[in-house]
Amino acid sequence: METNLKKRVIIIGGGYAGVSLLHKLKSKKNIELILIDKSQSHLLQTHIHKYISGYYSKEDITFNHEKYCKENSIEFICEEVSNINYKDNYVITRENLLYHYDYLVIATGSISIFPSQIQNVIEYTKDIKRIDNLDYYRNKFKKLLESSPMNRSIAVVGGGVSGLQIACEMAYTIKSKGLNKENIQVTLIEGMNTILPGMDPFLVEKSIQRCKELDIKVINNLFASKILEDSIILSNDDEISYDILIFVIGAIGNNISNSDKNIEENPRNQLVVDDYYKVKPYKNVFAIGDIVQAIDKNTNDFQAPTAQASRMQAELTGKNITKDINGDTLISNNISNKGILIDLGGPNCAIGRLLNVNLSGKIALWMKKLIYSLHTKKFS
Ligand SMILES: Cc1cc2nc3c(=O)[nH]c(=O)nc-3n(C[C@H](O)[C@H](O)[C@H](O)COP(=O)(O)OP(=O)(O)OC[C@H]3O[C@@H](n4cnc5c(N)ncnc54)[C@H](O)[C@@H]3O)c2cc1C
Repeated sequence: METNLKKRVIIIGGGYAGVSLLHKLKSKKNIELILIDKSQSHLLQTHIHKYISGYYSKEDITFNHEKYCKENSIEFICEEVSNINYKDNYVITRENLLYHYDYLVIATGSISIFPSQIQNVIEYTKDIKRIDNLDYYRNKFKKLLESSPMNRSIAVVGGGVSGLQIACEMAYTIKSKGLNKENIQVTLIEGMNTILPGMDPFLVEKSIQRCKELDIKVINNLFASKILEDSIILSNDDEISYDILIFVIGAIGNNISNSDKNIEENPRNQLVVDDYYKVKPYKNVFAIGDIVQAIDKNTNDFQAPTAQASRMQAELTGKNITKDINGDTLISNNISNKGILIDLGGPNCAIGRLLNVNLSGKIALWMKKLIYSLHTKKFS
């Protein structure tokens, strides 16, 4: 009897957003939960710099969907959703299987961008959001460290949070092995006039200082214009050689192709949602995480695509799905950015700005570890 009254909620994508929502809804008696993810595990993108460097193991940054779902009576389907029929309430997978839903949550995240204007960028770079590519970089870095290196080079293109964290972690690891910039030079290339463009001056200054400490060569105001097999040509025609090249210049929404012209997308392939994270005009479809264009309640700007925003959106959507099922009034968007924490290489160096308070040293590290353990304890 109870089974018939259950509402089937399908979540596409078990990243930060999808997993946080599963956690929120897993004990609801009137909901049948299904996770569909093309990947076997949840990848903690926030900590991939520590995987590339060899500091974290695969177990530290990936969490098996099958195991989590089994333990929490959730159905897991390891497949890629290739289309959604919004009008008739079903999704279709690459295997041509069809799954009906009462409620759908799209949480498919984002994919890294590799602009075609940069010659050969696809040929010589790999998306760091994929675990097999992370294995490739991790192995390459390990081999480089073990090769008695001289005049070798690592180039990281993109001086935002992701690129900075990767460059610092690799440079720290090089130093911790007793090597220096004559052995392996880490270069961080950022097209704007500073690393962490647009961020608070405290974070920028501390990061520049840390790059100096770690002998990272920072190049500003120049873009990568062409990639060759072992070097990058910059916009002023300078050539930077590399043994390892990592490209992290941004991401766009990982949208599922569909022919529904009613769905609004922005130029960054993100889904435009209403004040309840519903995908207009469909009342039973929500979208959360990097795939969504949402407004920050405090600043009225667009929310940055972060793990933090994904988790808060999942929390709100979990409440709203329950309310919707019960016929209660939904809670409108109340999400605003609380700040940021940035790893600056090694086990002891982090900075941050939370609720307008600058953090560095042990407090920033402690906060970063706390956030990691709050998220990962869902899987323990
Ligand atoms: C290097 C790096 C460092 C970062 N550091 C921070 C940080 O310090 N703090 C912070 O807050 N944020 C950080 N972020 C951003 C954060 O990781 C993202 O905002 C977050 O991962 C978004 O979560 P999500 O659930 O929307 O997407 P994801 O975590 O990308 O998950 C999407 C899931 O959907 C699945 N999927 C996609 N398409 C389909 C499909 N068609 N069918 C089935 N499954 C599908 C994927 O397999 C994946 O499991 C960082 C990102 C990177 C890359």
